[in-house]
Amino acid sequence: MATASVTPPPKKTNRAGLEVAQYKGGKSTLCAGCGHNSISERIIECFYEMGIEPWSVAKFSGIGCSSKSPAYFLSLAHGFNAVHGRAPSVATGAILANRHLLGIAVTGDGDTASIGIGQFMHLLRRNVPLIYLIENNGVYGLTKGQFSATAGVGSRLKTGVVNELEPIDCCVEAITLGATLVARSFSGDKRQLQAILKTAIAHKGLSVIDVISPCVTFNDHEGSTKSYAYMKEHDAPLHELDFVPAYAEIAVEIEEGETRAVELHDGSRLLLKKLGRDYDPSDKLGALRTVHEAGQQGQVVTGVLYLDASRKHFIDLLNLVDEPLATLPKSRVRPPREALDQIMAELR
Ligand code: SF4
Repeated sequence: MATASVTPPPKKTNRAGLEVAQYKGGKSTLCAGCGHNSISERIIECFYEMGIEPWSVAKFSGIGCSSKSPAYFLSLAHGFNAVHGRAPSVATGAILANRHLLGIAVTGDGDTASIGIGQFMHLLRRNVPLIYLIENNGVYGLTKGQFSATAGVGSRLKTGVVNELEPIDCCVEAITLGATLVARSFSGDKRQLQAILKTAIAHKGLSVIDVISPCVTFNDHEGSTKSYAYMKEHDAPLHELDFVPAYAEIAVEIEEGETRAVELHDGSRLLLKKLGRDYDPSDKLGALRTVHEAGQQGQVVTGVLYLDASRKHFIDLLNLVDEPLATLPKSRVRPPREALDQIMAELR
C-alpha cells in the first residue's frame, strides 16, 4: 500500500516574497549577552517586516565592536567597513552615487563621539538620507574598556577609575545640528527599538538613533551608567511608541486625547501614545530641554526625541536627477568636447 506524502507547510514570507532567513547575516563573534547582538536582531526583524529587499540596502561601519555588527545582519545587502570614524563620509558618497539605496550605518560611541566626531557633525548639518545608529556603551570594548566620550560623569570602570569629564550627548548634537529624526532607545527594549527602527526606515532624511547597548564584558557593573541594571532603573520612556506602515491595515488601540499622529513623507504615520506627559517631538527647543533636564535628574529619556519631516535632505538639495549617478552613461555626465574647448578658450 502506498504511503500518503505529507506536503510541508508553505514558508512564511513578507510582502517582497522573502523569508526571514534572507535577512540574516553571519554568526556573531561578539561576547554572549552584548547589547549589540540584540540590536542586530531588531534590524533583521524590522527590514523583514517592512518588506525591504536586502539588495537595495547599503551597510556602513567604522571600527569597534559595534562596527562588526553589519556582518551579522542582511548578508545580501551591500556593505563597506570604513576606517575608524569614517562611515559618514563613505556613506554620503555612496548615497550620492546611488540615491535609491537605503543606507544604514552602525557605529559606536568611540567611532562617533571621538575619532569620527568631525565627520558626524557634517553628516548632521547635511541631513544625508541615512539611518545612523550608535551602539552606545560608554567604553571602548575592543581595546579592553577605557572610557569613551559618552561616559557619564561619575561612572566607574571595573578598575575603579571614575570619569570626571562631561559626556558628549550625541542626541543633543544631532537635534542642534540638523538631523531630522533623533531617537534614543535601549537595546533591551525590543518593542520601542522596533518602532523607532521602522520609523527611521520610512523617514526621508537623516535618522540618528542612539541606543544604550551595555558592554557585558567591560561596563556592566555597579557604578556604570550604561549597564543593564542602571538602564532598568533610570530608563524614562517619553511615550509608548508604535509604528504603522502605510501598506498595513491600521489596527491599534487609540485612546482619545492620548495619541499624536505624525505624517511621514512616504505616507506612513508615527503614533506617539503619551503616558501622562504632553511631549511634542516637533518642538526642537523642547526636545533639547527634555534631554538636559533628564540628564540632570540621572534619567535616560528614550523614544523619538525630535522629528522634522518637512526639511529637504542633502540629495534633494543638490537637485540630482532621479537616476543613480553611478549608472548614468558618460555621455550624460560629461560635457561635450566643444563645451570644454570653449571653457578653456575663455580661461586663456
Ligand atoms: Fe560587546 Fe563589550 Fe564584548 Fe565588545 S567587549 S563584544 S562591546 S560585550
